[in-house]
Amino acid sequence: MKKILLISPNIPNQMYPQYKIHNLGLLSIANSTPNKYQVEIFDERLGEKFDFESHIDKEVILVGFQALTANAPIVFELAKKIKRHKIKVVIGGPYVSSIKDMPKLFNEAISIFDSILVGEGDLIWPKMIMDLEKNEIKKVYRQKKQSNLESLGSYKKDPRINQSQNIILHGKKPNAYGLEKGRGCSFKCDFCGANHVFGEGYRERNSNDIVKEINSALDKGWDHFYFVDNEFFRHIPKERNKTKILLEKIKNIPIKRWKTSTSLLALKKDKEEGFPLLKLAKKSGLYSVFVGFETISEGRKGLGKLIKPKTTIRLVREIQNLGIKVCGYFMFGFDWDSPDVFQSTTKFILEADIYKVNLYILTPLPGTKIWNTLNKQGRIFDKNFLNYTCTRCVFIPKQMKPSELVNGVIKCHSKLSKKVRGADQLSIRYYAERVFGKGSLPAKHDIAYN
Ligand code: SF4
Repeated sequence: MKKILLISPNIPNQMYPQYKIHNLGLLSIANSTPNKYQVEIFDERLGEKFDFESHIDKEVILVGFQALTANAPIVFELAKKIKRHKIKVVIGGPYVSSIKDMPKLFNEAISIFDSILVGEGDLIWPKMIMDLEKNEIKKVYRQKKQSNLESLGSYKKDPRINQSQNIILHGKKPNAYGLEKGRGCSFKCDFCGANHVFGEGYRERNSNDIVKEINSALDKGWDHFYFVDNEFFRHIPKERNKTKILLEKIKNIPIKRWKTSTSLLALKKDKEEGFPLLKLAKKSGLYSVFVGFETISEGRKGLGKLIKPKTTIRLVREIQNLGIKVCGYFMFGFDWDSPDVFQSTTKFILEADIYKVNLYILTPLPGTKIWNTLNKQGRIFDKNFLNYTCTRCVFIPKQMKPSELVNGVIKCHSKLSKKVRGADQLSIRYYAERVFGKGSLPAKHDIAYN
């Protein structure tokens, strides 16, 4: 049987251990591959490194890569190596979808790969395979239409819950079963490229399909679940009802524990109504919810989704009183962040009693609004994408030096250490090495600031 390999290389210098589930993007590509091929999926986060010598053999006809900005240089090097063996290489995922209108970067990708898939990929992947079989593979495939989540039925060929000869998952089996409730995001944060892949807005799967998938997973022994989502609980009233319908359906299913992510606005909306969705979710096994707080600084309204810090502190405490842990993502380095942002954020996190935090440095990912702004202003001094891990400073902040930004985040970690999970997981030395890299100091970039 001819083979297709799908690879997502590890991202070096990651600060926080990523939540481990199977790679849903690659699974959905594997699901849309014709049955005559065997597909092997390597998501290196799951602990198995793709090994060229042992995994490439004469049956392999195609290698597909999923790349984020921070691992794009690694993907490019690996692709060049594989191409030398006359195997076709293609790329998709957030990086190429984000740079589609940036000729220099896009042309660099075109010069290496046999084909580039822009957008979600599920609908254009089968067409690309057909063209490959006819030896007519095109340089670029763009998915203009959003995938119909109801017709995708991602569980049909899924080896996690079905006997599938066609799809092989490499790496350790994760603790939780990952699944989608919806795709996309209705917000448009300046620093995020989510809409480049999924298109505008948020779309939901049919709740009956989700319930069916959960039941199939339970039958196979999975009892921890992770809903990969940006907005599990919605803030728009008519959309909230769909979430309610789903929660009503899953509350009696014996799920041991599940986790997800949502927006702060959705939590605020739920509080205004007496927490109907969160109470239902708790009954169905919700353990924790990740929220993008991003920033608590004054100029934050620009992000269009945040609420006053005092109100937020009360909100977080009330949710945790329901027995649901609140975990937060924070980001530093916005133009409105002055050097006191580190102290005020630390105070906020401790007062709100946030269960777990991930602290990041604002990173201008190519293709985002923030990249365009900072690039035009000549403030991006580091364009080595291996450093675009959100833990290194690659631009000149407005109100502080790059080293102050980095050191401020380290100080936050130091103050939160032993009190908040996430911060607690890291020794400061380890963090500093991750941020600075061994032997290089960010202070050299301060010259550009002065
Ligand atoms: S809410 Fe999250 S996923 Fe949505 S645009 Fe903002 S950062 Fe991206």
